[in-house]
Amino acid sequence: MALVNENFLKLKAGYLFPEIGRRVSKYAAENPDAKIIRLGIGDVTEPLPAAVTEAMHKAVDEMATRASFRGYGPEQGYDFLRNAIAQNDFQSRGCNVSADEIFVSDGSKCDSGNILEIFGNDNVVAVTDPVYPVYVDTNVMAGRTGDADAAGRYAGLVYLPVTAENGFVPALPDRHVDLIYLCYPNNPTGTVATRETLQKWVDYARAEKAIIFFDAAYEAFITEPGVPHSIYEIEGAREVAIEFRSFSKTAGFTGTRCAFTVVPKGLKATTASGEAVELHGLWNRRQSTKFNGVPYVIQRGAEAVYSDAGKEQVRQLVSFYLENAAILSQGLRDAGLTVYGGVNAPYVWLKTPGNSTSWEFFDRLLSTAHLVGTPGSGFGASGEGYFRLSAFNSRANVEEAVRRIHTVLK
Ligand SMILES: *Cc1c(COP(=O)(O)O)cnc(C)c1O
Repeated sequence: MALVNENFLKLKAGYLFPEIGRRVSKYAAENPDAKIIRLGIGDVTEPLPAAVTEAMHKAVDEMATRASFRGYGPEQGYDFLRNAIAQNDFQSRGCNVSADEIFVSDGSKCDSGNILEIFGNDNVVAVTDPVYPVYVDTNVMAGRTGDADAAGRYAGLVYLPVTAENGFVPALPDRHVDLIYLCYPNNPTGTVATRETLQKWVDYARAEKAIIFFDAAYEAFITEPGVPHSIYEIEGAREVAIEFRSFSKTAGFTGTRCAFTVVPKGLKATTASGEAVELHGLWNRRQSTKFNGVPYVIQRGAEAVYSDAGKEQVRQLVSFYLENAAILSQGLRDAGLTVYGGVNAPYVWLKTPGNSTSWEFFDRLLSTAHLVGTPGSGFGASGEGYFRLSAFNSRANVEEAVRRIHTVLK
């Protein structure tokens, strides 16, 4: 008899986005005239930059002739893209990251889940709370947790609350942990980590021989000077950190699929008997065995993100979403709400008014303003009493959303 991986059965049913979808569909069916604006799921709305689509068209034509056709590429990504990434995302910022430490992939979601395969099952895992649900669920699937409690906290995971009370800065764990997920700029709270905060975490990881998974998917949205763009700007980070980056939010690649992961050479973890093993080699083996690379056409599109025209177009794209975030933040403040994030990230994180729960506020906003956001409690127990609005939308929808919020809350 075939047995299932019972770890999957521990995953909480009624997962966040399906539940949102269910409530919205029900409301829409009962109120067919309601013009619902969705500021829930974090997906981009604007088209790919022209430099990217031009490069992709050119690459498609290359695939059409025998002389320039390409079959399987290197599993780690083509050198032209790895070099462009190393140069533009790291070396230009003074980070010591070389092209052969970059693994091009089809997504940070996949990478941040897959990376767990090269780590033992007995590692103690720490996540911030609220958190990007992928980190938690992939650890549940891998069997690194027990069951979830009523608030959705899994036994065995170490949760680090990030709330207004601690300024959205996670305190170091009060116990030893082995794997730490940090995401900055943060989804869902839209907040960033200072150099001092990241140094504190790198120092902790060095002392505990822990590994930090640093998710910088929203790096391009950093506008304030002094905010670190990469964990490798922090002294000692090469000894303890793996960084995930993605073209999804930066350049509108959510449907196009291209991302990358940095595994520094010399970064090590140990066997049960205490022998140090290089993670670069393990990840290379994992990717070479289970992954056959990102399509050539897509990698050419990603490379174009680093051309002069591409950089300028990406800047405009990011500015557009950040202006949306600013309009949302200001509108919410004017309506009397307390708002966080939205400055270095495309997410606005608000405190629900009048002590309502996240889901109560969700239902109220849907039924009175026909607006869909994401309940903070869906990202973790400490997200209760908060609510996320995404700036990924048209200007017209964002302005209309602000008008409706005023009508409803003022
Ligand atoms: C959107 C997002 C990503 C990007 O995932 P892709 O698979 O590259 O599209 C990664 N991390 C976080 C926290 C995100 O919100």
